[in-house]
Amino acid sequence: AREAVLAAATGPGCTADGYEVPLLANIGGPADLPTALENEAQGVGLYRTEFLFLDRTTPPTVDEQEAAYREVLEAFPGGRVVVRVLDAGADKPLAFLPPPGEEPNPALGERGLRMLLRNRPTLTGQLEALARAAQGTTAKLQVMAPMVAGLAEAEEFVAACRAAGVETAGIMIEIPAAAIRASDLGPAVDFFSIGTNDLAQYTFAADRQVGSLSALQDPWQPALLDLIAMTAEGAKAAGRPCGVCGEAAADPALACVLVGLGVTSLSMGAPALPLVRAALSRHTRAQCEAAAVAARQGQTADEARDLARGLLPGLS
Ligand code: PEP
Ligand code: MG
Repeated sequence: AREAVLAAATGPGCTADGYEVPLLANIGGPADLPTALENEAQGVGLYRTEFLFLDRTTPPTVDEQEAAYREVLEAFPGGRVVVRVLDAGADKPLAFLPPPGEEPNPALGERGLRMLLRNRPTLTGQLEALARAAQGTTAKLQVMAPMVAGLAEAEEFVAACRAAGVETAGIMIEIPAAAIRASDLGPAVDFFSIGTNDLAQYTFAADRQVGSLSALQDPWQPALLDLIAMTAEGAKAAGRPCGVCGEAAADPALACVLVGLGVTSLSMGAPALPLVRAALSRHTRAQCEAAAVAARQGQTADEARDLARGLLPGLS
């Protein structure tokens, strides 16, 4: 049955009634491109650039970064490539960028965009490398910031992008405050991308790396679905696209629910793309919306999953 499903679904992501949902790959660098292409990714929805910066005592030069970024952009002519600027902090320390001091709770410390706004040359160098890499390629470069908490940070990031020649600047929604105030943030940016891994971590105050708390990382939790719905509504009100690039997008039933909540693109580890593509192709947008409404009526993650699956018959 699995082979039949895989064979049936090829091409761009869309629901049974033809509503297009671009299906994109999460990558850590050019080495992940072959798997993305084999699985028919329509572009990159999350390029985690940290790997370029790890294990080194000096930052990569602008030229070095430009070469890595160009390789990714050239793999998707005419496609979308969403690059996340450096998401480092005390949990992923960089030798050339020490944390500002002892941080007892690194996940709540100076990480992500906070760190870059205090280390401007690192941000500027990365944005300049990205703008240069995009010149002469047909891929659509979109750059986003991790760990944005509010409007002032979003505005600072967009201004830095524009100054460096990056035309399309968005933000990740992975801090609950940003989801709650998505309607304020939408007009200030070009797009949202929801990081469900961190959004779950911060919503449930449960470290994503602590195995004994993994139930609290379940992306079917109704509170998380509510925050995703708020984010998608805020994006829609501002006329902005809203993707998901956390692990949630890789679950075929949840992918349908996300589309039903108003999410406009899905990005995931490339091996998950075929089953998500198949699940979408078997359900209409209205079925996805009904499944999303049902899921949010659940009181627990398990209930939400069961309620949604009951309305997504094409998944069995
Ligand atoms: C997320 O937080 O959901 C995300 C996509 O980013 P990362 O897993 O790299 O923190
Ligand atoms: Mg994250």
